[in-house]
Amino acid sequence: MSFQRMHILIPMDEEAIQNGALEVKRRLKKELFKHGVEDEVKVLETGPVGISGRGVVLIVYPDRVYYYNVTPKDTKCIVEQHILKGKVCESVENSIDGEGRKNVVDYENIGLTREQPRVVLDKCCIVNTFDIEEVIARGGYAALEKILEEKISPEQVIEEIKKSGLRGRGGAGFPTGLKWEFTRKAEGDEKFVICNADEGEPGTYKDRLILEGDPHKLLEAMIIAGYAVGAKKGYIYIRGEYQLSIDRINRAIQDAKKFSLLGENILETGLNFDIEVKKGAGAYVCGEETALIESLEGKRGQPRIKPPYPVTHGLWQKPTVVNNVETLANVPAIILNGADWYRTLGTEKSPGTKVFTVLGDVEYPGLIEVEMGTPLREIINAYGGGVKNGKKFKAALVGGAAGVFLSDKLLDVKMDFENLKEHMAVLGSGAILVMNEDVSIVEMLFSILKFFAHESCGQCSPCRIGTRQLLEIIYRIKTGEGEEGDLEKMRHIAETMRNLSLCPLGQSVIMPVASAINNFKEDFLEKINKKNNKEVLYA
Ligand code: SF4
Repeated sequence: MSFQRMHILIPMDEEAIQNGALEVKRRLKKELFKHGVEDEVKVLETGPVGISGRGVVLIVYPDRVYYYNVTPKDTKCIVEQHILKGKVCESVENSIDGEGRKNVVDYENIGLTREQPRVVLDKCCIVNTFDIEEVIARGGYAALEKILEEKISPEQVIEEIKKSGLRGRGGAGFPTGLKWEFTRKAEGDEKFVICNADEGEPGTYKDRLILEGDPHKLLEAMIIAGYAVGAKKGYIYIRGEYQLSIDRINRAIQDAKKFSLLGENILETGLNFDIEVKKGAGAYVCGEETALIESLEGKRGQPRIKPPYPVTHGLWQKPTVVNNVETLANVPAIILNGADWYRTLGTEKSPGTKVFTVLGDVEYPGLIEVEMGTPLREIINAYGGGVKNGKKFKAALVGGAAGVFLSDKLLDVKMDFENLKEHMAVLGSGAILVMNEDVSIVEMLFSILKFFAHESCGQCSPCRIGTRQLLEIIYRIKTGEGEEGDLEKMRHIAETMRNLSLCPLGQSVIMPVASAINNFKEDFLEKINKKNNKEVLYA
């Protein structure tokens, strides 16, 4: 066996592949071979590192040097300088500071690779996701093994999850342990676990990166959920565009079966649990659990009237627990380390960590995991590197399209369920879109309302008609034909939708509408009565 003195990690996600990561990998291996060091240096594909917009990233260990925007021709310098001579390749943007060095970016301390309390993303960009043995060596499936070896009962598992205070990360924040308990106690011989991976919120891709970075964690969590609620079958309902995630999950399922971690008689304990992947067709409303279930049953994806809830009447009217990807990804760590450990992270009512996608006008857009309760200012400045190009901060849209526009007055708000609720805001999808002083909130709201009008499934009239009316009014305002009374009309329509719509899509439109009008009224007043060039309404 050869000794490998260095490892080069290549985070490989959709973005990296589009930027040419596969060709960089090929050229890197060729260079290593040319210099006869291919046995000394291991090149590994890993899950995403969380940095967005920096092209292909290479990380050289043990030096822990990050190279950014790597092109195939840069591989020559990286091998000849760094691998052979131990000197950082200065012609490529990198993370090492030092006298006389060029192209240095201090991502270690400023950006998204800064130290984070990683519970969900702990293996992302560390393990080779295609190597189940490596995943197991790094603690994969250890929580499942613990449950089976120590004969921890399903009720004890549920109790531990309840004690941890884990709440759903898909938006609603419902206590996960309680959901599991309701499903376990529901009558019925056949029960199901569904993982909601239908991430359709604009600007949100945290679940995709979890799926691409650590698919085995999700499988492990689903098996544990199945054991706890008494289900033998699980489905991952995944957004159809997430082809890389689908491929990696399917590969992980095959590997887990080979290692007796999934399927019949898991680890020879008599436990049976199988997982199937189902692709969604791209409707945003299918992120709502009952619409998702309808779609999974082969019907049109429209929300059901609740109650009854899926915990008693879910897939094919059987008891079903539906959990989001990030929610499930917390489960193995809770089982392994205990609820008390989990509660040392975050706040009393929102324990644990939260994965955010930080986007828009920040220096370092990407994915981070921080403790619940971390102030918005810290997320934007310390992790996102602050507002890009020295511009002034204007607003942050927190929680995705169905989130709220926060002004600089709320930059110190703590990002957890309770604190945001106090300000009529939500964690939502975990997206934080930062806007600089040049951004028009009217234009942003127009984009959001266009999205909602497009995605309304049309089942109930308050949402079907309301989203269209809102779009017409915001278009009027944006093109300089609005009136001051339009703002009240918008608020009234959105309120009516909140009170009368059937599902969260229609109910949540009030969030961006009211927060935009309340916090950025001057943007609207500036536009009202101005005669601008007309644009095509549904362009
Ligand atoms: Fe469909 Fe909108 Fe009604 Fe939800 S609120 S059921 S998306 S029409």
